[in-house]
Amino acid sequence: MQEVQQVYTLLKQAKKIVITTHQKPDGDAMGAALGLYHFLQNLGHDAIIISPTNWATFLNWMPGCSMVMDYEANKEEAVKIIDTADILFCLDFNILHRTKNLEPILAAASCIKVLIDHHQQPQEEMFDYGVSDVSKSSTCEMVYDFIVQSPYKSCLNKDIATCLFAGIMTDTGSFRFSSASANVHRVVAELKELGIDHTVIFENIYDNFSESRLRFIGNALLNRLEVMYEYNTAMMAIPKRDLIKYEIKTGDTEGLVNYLLTIEGIKLGALLIDRTEERKWSFRSKGNFDVNAFARAHFEGGGHKNAAGGRSSETLEQNIKKFKEVLKQYEQQLQ
Ligand code: 5GP
Ligand code: MN
Repeated sequence: MQEVQQVYTLLKQAKKIVITTHQKPDGDAMGAALGLYHFLQNLGHDAIIISPTNWATFLNWMPGCSMVMDYEANKEEAVKIIDTADILFCLDFNILHRTKNLEPILAAASCIKVLIDHHQQPQEEMFDYGVSDVSKSSTCEMVYDFIVQSPYKSCLNKDIATCLFAGIMTDTGSFRFSSASANVHRVVAELKELGIDHTVIFENIYDNFSESRLRFIGNALLNRLEVMYEYNTAMMAIPKRDLIKYEIKTGDTEGLVNYLLTIEGIKLGALLIDRTEERKWSFRSKGNFDVNAFARAHFEGGGHKNAAGGRSSETLEQNIKKFKEVLKQYEQQLQ
């Protein structure tokens, strides 16, 4: 993988560019994709965002979101577009399988592939150019760097700033995680000067849910929470019947895992959701407990040191049993 700065030369002439990100894109993934999309459009390129799957409706307010193509809803067209693209930008994922059913299509694409990402252990051999930096708060911060370090910094505008701010805000837990570096705050100051309204962005993301989603959280906290003080661990397993009863949609469970770490002394939070296709794990930790390593070792996943995810095709009950069994190996580390 060569340096991402070399891509600037490729952008001198108009190109057909596809931007993609991980399945079920979150604020950072969608913000980075849209920020880059507006930048490339301003430069005169024919750019399009193809998401591997649908996304949370609370992201729909983002400028340009209505232009994003959902691969699962437009398979044939998406494949044609990828086949004829000159450049493919892959944002906010380190391993191609994070794009779910899009993986074989991206792997087979013959165009130039560029990675911009902040997850550990990227699949560098899959990309021609790119930047992978785990010290970065978010892919949005990296897209900001990519734009301001380019000869086209003047293309930065309020729409781009709005998208990038949304992703920086969500991936830093609203500027609370250690990843919210001095540089993050400097970037935000620059974005503010481009005219963004951070209060409106915050409300669009965090105050945009249904009543039933709030009742779902209430039920989960009351009836699905299990605290294992001997391991300083809290877990929650959400059965499918809860998802049906409360009409839970993509994105409605985001943030739920964070409640687990609000209990004093808890170092590991684990949320398990019985999705239709698979059982999906979310892990969060405080301090030195490395959930990226934990998810990789036991639950076909990965992510960051303090925030990772995993998956399994086994049942909810089998997953709970396995988790409790595996936890015994980590008793020391969790003290
Ligand atoms: P979340 O729990 O919010 O879904 O994900 C937390 C972090 O772990 C994110 O940075 C996400 O990219 C990563 N992650 C989530 N699920 C998976 C997975 O199945 N595999 C890998 N490698 N990373 C994941
Ligand atoms: Mn991210």
